[in-house]
Amino acid sequence: MIKVKTKEEIEIMRESALVVSKTLGMLAKEVKPGVTTLFLDKLAEEFIREQNAIPGFLGLYDFPNTLCMSPNSQVVHGIPNKKPLIEGDIISIDCGAIKNGFYGDHAYTFAVGEIDAEIQKLLDVTKESLYVGIRELKVGNRVGDVGFAIQNFTENHGYGVVRELVGHGLGREMHEDPEMPNYGRRGRGKKFVEGMVVAIEPMTNLGTHKIKQHSDGWTITTLDNKPSAHFEHDVAIVNGKPELLSTFKYIYDAFGIESNEEDEFRANS
Ligand code: MG
Ligand code: MG
Repeated sequence: MIKVKTKEEIEIMRESALVVSKTLGMLAKEVKPGVTTLFLDKLAEEFIREQNAIPGFLGLYDFPNTLCMSPNSQVVHGIPNKKPLIEGDIISIDCGAIKNGFYGDHAYTFAVGEIDAEIQKLLDVTKESLYVGIRELKVGNRVGDVGFAIQNFTENHGYGVVRELVGHGLGREMHEDPEMPNYGRRGRGKKFVEGMVVAIEPMTNLGTHKIKQHSDGWTITTLDNKPSAHFEHDVAIVNGKPELLSTFKYIYDAFGIESNEEDEFRANS
């Protein structure tokens, strides 16, 4: 059952999304060669608690940490560890937090130092596919319209769209209805209505779309061990249109980058 949010609830969720957005912005300055994912995890936990929020993943389905940290061929759900990141790695950081009873859920894939141009393009295309999908999140459209748009855009670049893991509704629960696959058919699936809040999160592989699950019960990698990228925004349907609750602004501030990519999804755009 889809739990539609009131205007007041969406304002509360904007705060939850701000917590995770600021956390990724804080981490953007810390991601570099030699740093361990466990160190970044501890920084994030402290930072989230300082904002009167609770780490959203810690203990959820028994996940042991604050962040899902998935380097290189890991798709999602990687567990932080003591292995240092090295120059040329990519690292997907997925961050969840609960504030005032509502979840924020937000992910970005960072380059560690200099990375190959081929891998940078994978990151750029995956992030662009997120916006291609968000554009379809409007009243009158259906879940399949978002999935189709992401899949079509991604596959036109020759990349693989992960099937087994999907975006989702977001609210008092981390995973609410509807599931939001990154593949699909136009005009299929549940209809979007005013007040829905969803997490859209393309997971895109440089090679095959196929994945494998590892014996720790969490880690998921690409079947061909080629890199995978992951970007995630929290989006509400307001006045019939998609409105971003999360923002990569804090990441871009850390990098000293100007970006207008989110402008079309702001309240007064
Ligand atoms: Mg997430
Ligand atoms: Mg999510």
